[in-house]
Order: sequence, then structure tokens, then C-alpha cells
Amino acid sequence: MIEVKNLVKYYGDKKAVNNITFSVGEGEILGFLGPNGAGKSTTMNILTGYISMTGGEVRICGIDILDDPIGAKRSIGYLPEQPPLYPEMTVREYLSFVCELKGVSDIKTEIDDIAKKTGLKDVISRRVGNLSKGYKQRTGLAAALVGDPKVLILDEPTVGLDPNQIIEIRELIKELGKEHTVILSSHILQEISAVSDKILIINKGRSVAFDTPENILRSAGAESLEDAFIKLTVKEELR
Ligand code: ADP
Ligand code: MG
Repeated sequence: MIEVKNLVKYYGDKKAVNNITFSVGEGEILGFLGPNGAGKSTTMNILTGYISMTGGEVRICGIDILDDPIGAKRSIGYLPEQPPLYPEMTVREYLSFVCELKGVSDIKTEIDDIAKKTGLKDVISRRVGNLSKGYKQRTGLAAALVGDPKVLILDEPTVGLDPNQIIEIRELIKELGKEHTVILSSHILQEISAVSDKILIINKGRSVAFDTPENILRSAGAESLEDAFIKLTVKEELR
């Protein structure tokens, strides 16, 4: 579904992503785990076509993003770290605007379906600017779902939420993972281990581990993912 080979990104002479390789199969949830500055958002911004790569290869549903960027983008729904929400619009107006951008034909049905899925029905007529952080995040997720993309890319979807909202958004992501291939990022381990089938641990732009949570534990000889993360990143830093 998604194949990334030897991805490299320089900002000027700073190497933000250093030779990262991973793949995600249909219906899988892949979690990017790494501290701030690891290169998670940069990698996601490349996959979604927001920024260009310096080197490497990215295929989305078999389409090389350099050969056919628009075709590749069509299968992606993206929730950026700071979703571009318009505070003056109601939730319905905002989703309708996103539907128009994405060329959805039956906008009313699309919005009704997505509002139901994301638990936005009760706030559909409220202005986005007046919503709680949790509902704003649901609105961002709803926008990513417009057009029913096969792949969802969610950058730190629970950042800034309170514990109850975090649990709700996690459940929603798990639910969405049944029908979509999902990549999400977080610097919080529990976040990633709660929902992911596979984990890509990134540190300072490098891939430290890419495997199922169980295999990462086993190969690091670790008791917990936390322990594995520390062992693997320290080993990496000593290279
Ligand atoms: P993460 O999302 O894991 O926190 P980022 O991908 O945002 O990490 O950043 C990776 C590295 O690239 C960091 O060192 C960051 O400072 C740097 N970086 C990110 N965006 C830019 C940019 N537009 N220009 C220069 N450096 C950047
Ligand atoms: Mg980030």
C-alpha cells in the first residue's frame, strides 16, 4: 500500500531524514515513534506531497509520487500537525468546503456519513472556532476522511488533548484502521503502542527499528517498549 525506500531529506545542509525505509500493508496501522525533531513530520509531509524529498523512493498504492503526484495524493487523507481549520466557518461549512476542494459529488451524504463516523453530528452547525480542542481535532480528522481515501496520515493526532479526549481519539483511530491504512505519529510511547500493528522508531532522522511491537521487544531484549526505545536509541547514538 505504501512503500518508502531510502528516504532522505535535507533542509539546507541539515539532514532531517537519513535513509529511512519502511512499508505499510493494506489495513495496517503504522506508528511513527520518536522524540521531537526526529523527522516524523518531515517524513509525513513528503508522503503527502507537501514538501519534496532530497532522495529515495515513495510509492502510494503502487504510484510513484514523483511520476504522478496528483494520482498518489488522491489516495491520501492528511491530518497535519496544525490542521488548517477556519474558525469562522461552521463544521458543516468547513467540511463542505473540503468536499468541494476534493471534488466530492454528493456533498450532503458525504458530510452526514463522515459526521456520524467522527462523532460530529451534534456540533455540525457550530463554528469551528468555538469548539473544544477535542472536537477541533475530530473536525480535522473528518476533513482527512473526505473522499474516502485508502490511506490516512495523522501527525500527532492527540497532541494537546486531555486524557478523556485522548482515549476517544485513539478509539476513533482504531475504528478508522479497520477500513483504512493508517500512519500516525507521536512522541508518546503509550499512544503508539495502543493502536499500532507496526512501529517505526525514528531518532535524529534515522530508522532505529521497524517491526511489530512484539518483535521490537524481542530483538532489543527489552521488558517494555519504553525499555526497548531507550536501548535502541542509545545503541544508535553510539554508532
Ligand atoms: P518531528 O516531527 O519528529 O518532531 P520534524 O520532521 O518536524 O520532526 O523535524 C526534523 C528536523 O528537521 C528537526 O531538526 C527540525 O528542526 C528540522 N526542520 C523541520 N522543518 C524544517 C524547515 N522547514 N527548515 C529547516 N529545518 C527544519
Ligand atoms: Mg512533528
